[in-house]
Amino acid sequence: MTNPLVPLSPETHDIVLDLVYATCNNIAGKQIYERDLCLLHRDAELCLRKAVQLAAKAGCKLKIFDAFRPHEAQVELWETALDKLYVADPQVGSNHTRGTAVDLTLVDSMGKELDMGTDFDHMTSLSHHFSDLVSPQAQANRTLLLNIMEQAGFQHLPHEWWHYELPMQANHTLIDSAHLGSLNPMQQK
Ligand SMILES: [Zn+2]
Repeated sequence: MTNPLVPLSPETHDIVLDLVYATCNNIAGKQIYERDLCLLHRDAELCLRKAVQLAAKAGCKLKIFDAFRPHEAQVELWETALDKLYVADPQVGSNHTRGTAVDLTLVDSMGKELDMGTDFDHMTSLSHHFSDLVSPQAQANRTLLLNIMEQAGFQHLPHEWWHYELPMQANHTLIDSAHLGSLNPMQQK
């Protein structure tokens, strides 16, 4: 099987990376990825390039928290999550493990995150799209991100303002990390 994943970086994609699962600053409270490698399926990567251009027109850059997520990492997050609404059951499979989902926000020209009303991975109803429990400015910023990502070909999930994925997931299979070789974020170099 040829590897469908493409690496993303600030140099190649004009994005900002903050891969929280390669640090301890995440919901699991521990480092899950050995390496801060950001990977997307080539179909999603094409759409993301469009999103980068649309964000630039709005004076912003995309800041990515997570993209492809190996099955082993999905299991760790599932076991950690208190509210299973916000994490896909590894038995079913996450679209992150298909390489077709990305978690992200917008930063301004100074690199400062736009106010989205909550942090990434904040697992309450405040994180739901179109929540009027966050400020009007945060709602407007979420709508800006939504417009950028939907114009680029992604769709949103109701419960997480930061999560976008390609539609028609049945076209994409779960990617077995055994095939990834040196691109596996779970392995040390
Ligand atoms: Zn996600």
